[in-house]
Amino acid sequence: MTKLLEELVLASHNAGKLKELQALLGNGIRVRSVAEFSTEVPEETGLSFVENAILKARHAARVSGLPALADDSGLAVDALGGAPGIHSARYADGQGDAANNAKLLVALKDVAEDQRGAQFVCALALVRHADDPLPVICEGLWRGRILPQPQGSNGFGYDPLFWVAERQCSSAELSPADKNRLSHRARAMALLRQRLDLA
Ligand code: IMP
Repeated sequence: MTKLLEELVLASHNAGKLKELQALLGNGIRVRSVAEFSTEVPEETGLSFVENAILKARHAARVSGLPALADDSGLAVDALGGAPGIHSARYADGQGDAANNAKLLVALKDVAEDQRGAQFVCALALVRHADDPLPVICEGLWRGRILPQPQGSNGFGYDPLFWVAERQCSSAELSPADKNRLSHRARAMALLRQRLDLA
């Protein structure tokens, strides 16, 4: 795979993600943003993280003519059948992180501590071209438990509600460096490095 890839487009308009990915892949592969080619954002019609990552990667490959990588991530809570899942970012209808967290606490108000298991999920999809029948898929899972109230102020999204047993704190209480070692994104990225033979 490595030899096939000299240039890669990332299906995200997020400059931070682009930088992170360039650092991960090293200088042998040039990473470009889909924003250079199109401002159009594809509709995320998939039912799973993987489906949405694939459709975003295909769209980026189509508009750029380059191999493309996309990610899709979110929080899946066991007692809620995996919700908020692919709807994590807009769980409270686009009102933001604090409203998402408040809605989650209401949904879990009668759920006992030992039933509050959850996982952060990150799916990465790499396609060599828009119609690639064999995308490279790497998933990273990070298991934790949903706290009864928010704690900590680092990170974003559901971090203040996500208890990290291995550090005995919430993921919003982890340093950014520590979160980057443990997280679903870090795990998916590590698998991608292996698959691209960069490990
Ligand atoms: P994105 O697609 O990676 O931007 O993430 C989708 C949504 O999932 C975010 O808006 C957050 O609500 C949630 N999420 C994903 N990753 C994390 C994380 O590391 N911490 C907290 N929330 C996250």
